[in-house]
Amino acid sequence: MKQSRLFSKTRKEAPKDEVSKNAQLLIRAGFVHKEMAGVYTFLPLGLRVLEKIKQIIREELNKVGGQEMKMTALQTKDVWEKTDRWREDLDDGIWFRTHLNNETELGLAFTHEEALTNIMANFVSSYKDLPIYAYQFQTKFRNELRAKSGLLRGREFLMKDLYDFSLDEKQHKEFYERMKDVYKKIFNRLGIGDRTFLTISNGGTFSKYSFEFQTVCDAGEDILVLDEEKGVAINKDDFNDEVCKDFNIKKEDYNFVEKKSAEVGDIYNLGEKYAKAIGLTYKDKDGKDKPVFMGSYGMGVPRIMAVITELFSDENGIIWPEAVAPYKVHLISINKNEEAEKIYRELEQSGIEVLFDDREDVAPGEKFADADLIGCPYRLVVSAKTLKEDSVEIKRRDSDKTKLIEIGKLIKNLNN
Ligand code: ATP
Ligand code: MG
Repeated sequence: MKQSRLFSKTRKEAPKDEVSKNAQLLIRAGFVHKEMAGVYTFLPLGLRVLEKIKQIIREELNKVGGQEMKMTALQTKDVWEKTDRWREDLDDGIWFRTHLNNETELGLAFTHEEALTNIMANFVSSYKDLPIYAYQFQTKFRNELRAKSGLLRGREFLMKDLYDFSLDEKQHKEFYERMKDVYKKIFNRLGIGDRTFLTISNGGTFSKYSFEFQTVCDAGEDILVLDEEKGVAINKDDFNDEVCKDFNIKKEDYNFVEKKSAEVGDIYNLGEKYAKAIGLTYKDKDGKDKPVFMGSYGMGVPRIMAVITELFSDENGIIWPEAVAPYKVHLISINKNEEAEKIYRELEQSGIEVLFDDREDVAPGEKFADADLIGCPYRLVVSAKTLKEDSVEIKRRDSDKTKLIEIGKLIKNLNN
């Protein structure tokens, strides 16, 4: 991509009403545009990051049999009334509601258990149909009371939600345990694995406990009771003697400290509640009707992007982990030079993702500042000086060291 054609521009200042570091950086670097509190547009650079995060999640879910689909935001109330979740006062008024011209009430879904259970009732009839693991990346609407944490808490945001439809608790439990490993793998690939902890949390209405994946991060809204070395974490909201007893945690054996954290994912046992309320049953081997046993597995995609931004940045800008960077290389041409153009084409042809700062009316200092702000892992500079040595200057975003590298060896070097 040529930066001279990129319509998003970097900015010196973020909007005055934007107080969170993640949104300030992402707005200033031109990844997102703020529509209103908790509602962000993804600009071309931001979309590239979002898609990379999605792709990593997708690959790992497909490996365990996930089937991708996409449900609708618009919902009629009938199915939600069956589970008593159409209420105005639900979760402090979480629903965004609207209506058709004929006054039929509609809502914009904040989650999809009801909708998907209802869909599955069309397709599941026999024990042979189960288990099913269905997931989507879909926009959720939540009328959150506070939206001051930038992309960490949106009122309109992309969620990955997967649901398991199992024969019984045993089959569900096997998958549930497997998903703990899948989530770990995803967070490792996203570059936040070493700071993300499987955390004991409240189970909500269906079971006593659930598990969250919490990333230690100062901007997060949760507090962990954490023994980092032993990898044991409990959400502070739920930390009490009963939890310790239930999980066989002897407090004196642990070095617990409190750490702020952001919930990047959670996994729930839903039991038979939805299946029973909505009528999702199957015939077992003896021809008897049984309710389907369910679980749900969420992840906030922009929240993950915000956590990465919070964790990997310095006073000059973002420092993207390579796996999710918008481009691997930010190539900077000093003054107009045809050699830079040629290097750009060669890198692209060899499959390396390059943002090429070919702008002619921008001073070198400003180009360097932009490269730091945008945060691609490698900065390459092509100038008359480097060309004299038949070389380009290379610098990693996370290091201060620059070195010259021969043009002929560049691609091999970047592919290592
Ligand atoms: P929270 O406690 O942060 O409000 P939650 O427990 O209500 O989240 P779920 O309904 O379980 O969240 O949603 C699944 C995942 O979606 C969460 O683990 C989180 O990563 C993400 N998420 C939830 N709410 C938001 C939001 N308002 N903005 C961005 N991501 C969110
Ligand atoms: Mg949760």
